[in-house]
Amino acid sequence: MKLCRFDAGRLGVVDGDSVIDVTQALDVLPRCTYPLPRHDILIEHLEAVRSRVSDVMPSSERRALNTVRLLSPVANPGKIMAAPVNYSKHLAEARAESAIHHDNRIEEIRRVGLFLKATSSLVGPSEGVTIAHPKRRNDHEAELVVVIGKRARNLAREEAMACVAGYCSGLDMTTRGPEERSLRKSIDSYSVLGPWLVTSDELTNPHSLEFRLSVNGEVRQHANTRDLIIGIVDLLVFASMFYTLEPGDILFTGTPEGVGPVIAGDIIVTDFEGIGGMTVVVHGGHLA
Ligand code: MN
Repeated sequence: MKLCRFDAGRLGVVDGDSVIDVTQALDVLPRCTYPLPRHDILIEHLEAVRSRVSDVMPSSERRALNTVRLLSPVANPGKIMAAPVNYSKHLAEARAESAIHHDNRIEEIRRVGLFLKATSSLVGPSEGVTIAHPKRRNDHEAELVVVIGKRARNLAREEAMACVAGYCSGLDMTTRGPEERSLRKSIDSYSVLGPWLVTSDELTNPHSLEFRLSVNGEVRQHANTRDLIIGIVDLLVFASMFYTLEPGDILFTGTPEGVGPVIAGDIIVTDFEGIGGMTVVVHGGHLA
């Protein structure tokens, strides 16, 4: 199932070129009072929501996909984890351009581990990316994103895939500079998630997905998730050695070679096998 969020917090099922408005299915979610849970309750109750979606779908309205504003498929992730340099050709590229990367921690993922991006940086495709420091280089990084479905700690390899709710495409936007990754990659709008969540029962082999990213029609990144240095299973195992994974947590799996700059006015399009296309506009921002 392809589940999207659109317009003013509506829930939809994507079916070809249309969206079926199943917002009514959100009724199954528990009422929350303060203090609010620190995880996403829709993903926590995904099975119950999906069951209700099946009930309400026959009587639900259909909208053309290109007339809705797509939001982040996960509204309230507790954390956004991300893998740095996780494709060997991107590692070589980063080393060759070390001045651009300010010689900043261009090491293998096995030594660096993971980093966190602020949840406040999360947007959906319709919101676009807003460049905050236009005098610096701001790069696109297309990445397969894993959405955690179940609470987990110290996962065994054979348990890892069972705690995945589904997959999205992501942009791990980056301002280049000497500062920590978590600062440069947590700027408002620098984590794009979309265009919808493809549940793990529909996308069963995330370990071999072709994907590409283009800017203004020019293909910049073209890779396959089979070339990840640390694959999805081992990323989940590794993350769970440090953090309790919670429903709705997001894991950016790393970007391949072809990373390059974008400026205001550019249009980024990603296309992931098994997920689909996502269009993201780059807006202008404030002066650096
Ligand atoms: Mn990245």
